[in-house]
Amino acid sequence: MNLIEVKNCYKVYNNGVTAVADLNVTIGRGEFVFVIGASGSGKSTFIKMLYREEKPTNGQVYVGGVNVAKLRNSKVFKLRRKLGIVFQDFKLLPKLTVYENVAFALESIGMNNREIRPKVIKALENVGLKDKMRSFPNQLSGGEQQRVCIARAIVNNPKLLICDEPTGNLDPDISREIVSILEKINSEYGTTIIMATHDRETVNRMKRRVLLLENGVLASDDKEGSYKAHESN
Ligand code: ADP
Repeated sequence: MNLIEVKNCYKVYNNGVTAVADLNVTIGRGEFVFVIGASGSGKSTFIKMLYREEKPTNGQVYVGGVNVAKLRNSKVFKLRRKLGIVFQDFKLLPKLTVYENVAFALESIGMNNREIRPKVIKALENVGLKDKMRSFPNQLSGGEQQRVCIARAIVNNPKLLICDEPTGNLDPDISREIVSILEKINSEYGTTIIMATHDRETVNRMKRRVLLLENGVLASDDKEGSYKAHESN
């Protein structure tokens, strides 16, 4: 069973905009997939349907064998526990330390401190920030804050890590650092990674699978994809 199977999926928002149309995508365990396309092409909508931030108007979205389109609201938290999500804007809690930000998700599912501590330390080691665990978010650079977000997203060993423009606010060299951390997580833990991005340099350098969306339609799905010269975004 593939980790993700999206079948005949449509999303029409209440204002009549069709954000995604007849999308069919299969993603296997351990893949690293980029989702590219111009602004407004449906990347975020596609990604949001995977973690049930949006429900498709039609079609099925299977994540780990569960049709999340049909998932009852009361079960959505169970899905989210199995995923890690990284956003463009870091969404860290400003009054909590780095350690506390990463521990927070585990505390909220009732894990005890003895179990939490080694997991948080390991996650911070994985992103190279163990020595900053007592810092507060505003004492960190943008790249460091994003690394905390990655630690927070991987602390519970998710099978799937969803990244929506994770390097959108970062300089190219820092973006490279972030992507190499994602690459390491993918190869070391077999975590499936889906990353929506505008970052041409990264996509062209990595030579991974690339899904290109155009006006909500899957325009291409290349095994070793790249931005072509004619694509403006
Ligand atoms: P991308 O992530 O590629 O920029 P989006 O998925 O955000 O694309 O948007 C796809 C289309 O859906 C755009 O036309 C956008 O304006 C529209 N859209 C996105 N979110 C909403 C919403 N909540 N309500 C109405 N229209 C939306």
